[in-house]
Amino acid sequence: MSTLDRTRLADLHAREREAFTAARPRSGELAERARAHMPGGVPMSWMVKWPGDHPVFVEHAEGAHFTCVDGIDHVDLCLGDTGAMMGHSPAATVEAVTRQLARGITTMLPTEDAIAVSGNLADRFGLPYWQFTLTATDANRHAIRYARHLTGRSKVVVHNYCYHGSVDEAFATIGEGGTTVDRRHNIGAPVDTAETTRVVEFNDLDALEKALSHGDVAAILVEPALTNIGIVLPDDGYNAGVRELATKYGALLINDETHTICAGPGGYTGAQGLEPDLLVIGKSIGGGIPCGTFGFTQDVADRIARSVDLEDIDVGGIGGTLAGNGLSMAAMKATLEQVMTPEAFAHMVPLADAWADGVQAGIDAVGADWHVTRLGARAEYNFSKVPSRNGQEAHDADDFELQQYLHLYALNRGILLTPFHNMALMCPDTTVADVDAHTTMFRECLEELFA
Ligand code: PMP
Repeated sequence: MSTLDRTRLADLHAREREAFTAARPRSGELAERARAHMPGGVPMSWMVKWPGDHPVFVEHAEGAHFTCVDGIDHVDLCLGDTGAMMGHSPAATVEAVTRQLARGITTMLPTEDAIAVSGNLADRFGLPYWQFTLTATDANRHAIRYARHLTGRSKVVVHNYCYHGSVDEAFATIGEGGTTVDRRHNIGAPVDTAETTRVVEFNDLDALEKALSHGDVAAILVEPALTNIGIVLPDDGYNAGVRELATKYGALLINDETHTICAGPGGYTGAQGLEPDLLVIGKSIGGGIPCGTFGFTQDVADRIARSVDLEDIDVGGIGGTLAGNGLSMAAMKATLEQVMTPEAFAHMVPLADAWADGVQAGIDAVGADWHVTRLGARAEYNFSKVPSRNGQEAHDADDFELQQYLHLYALNRGILLTPFHNMALMCPDTTVADVDAHTTMFRECLEELFA
């Protein structure tokens, strides 16, 4: 078994930081100018967390690649953290969006495309009714609001170290004795998350039953496989158990498929025949154009219809002026019908397997205590010998310094990984050569690191 030499890691990291700066003078210049009116020189604060001393500015992104302003071509395995899972600027989406751009972007009235989109989603996910937002975050917020409204209960159950967008209830972790505590650095929480949330470990049905047994849980918000603290796969029967307990205790089950859509055209829900009460998805289904949606059962639809008054429907906390706009609808229709097809997944999933095989071979070659986890068109390596069974284990296996180094090493060789994870995602345009480039890079990186 190989152990990591931290001094060596620090030396190599310093070398890579220098190489990054030397190779990207134009990005460096733009980053400097960007600092004038954006803190950290970035349009969104978390972008400062990318490896390297400043972000890479993008010139052109197409398919599975992008070129930065310094003219360097990159294999993009991040794909906008799933926003571009169908490739950058897919032709069918671009064509539909371009057409719609000249026909009205947003009117607060429906376009005919909405009928096709909701029908397509119903077929994929097995839920008859759909409503639209601009982000997955908003779809989650709305799903939670409806759940509270319909059940008259206050609490939401989430998994330890989940991520569902900037949803207040979800920034909680398990504290001493199973209590709920704010996740570290939860910024400006409106109330203590202990008031809104119970947190359970993934794959722990006993803990879930205990959390539900108080009788005050409106919703269980889950990813059917965790993807935001590394990938954590469910034990056999775990999701069925969650469904059973939700029904037993009268809580509504919300499956957030925003990332697990990588499992197939109907996401993990479709692939495993799961039966949530509500389902949330955003990012990928518009081919990169902002959109989000949540679907629900006939029962949920009936309960909403019975309990929401027309007069107050616009100011009840469910809304968004731009929601359901013509541009998002055109993007979703084209993407769902022509890009996010079974054939696309038949191309993407074997590539993710090949990527995982390459990473595993690299790990084995140096005897590192790491492992790879696979989830359809997505795969990820983690710094523990065996796969994590829950969020805490996955969190404890993380190593920020090591991760930053590996990502920077890859970036310096023209490969972009998903930030904050060691994750790779395949799109319909990803090629065997793209995967092979990662395999070679990763092996060389580990051989040097563990030399
Ligand atoms: N749900 C999941 C599972 C996510 O991973 C994310 C974002 N990474 C979101 C929701 C929120 O998506 P957005 O930031 O586009 O609203």
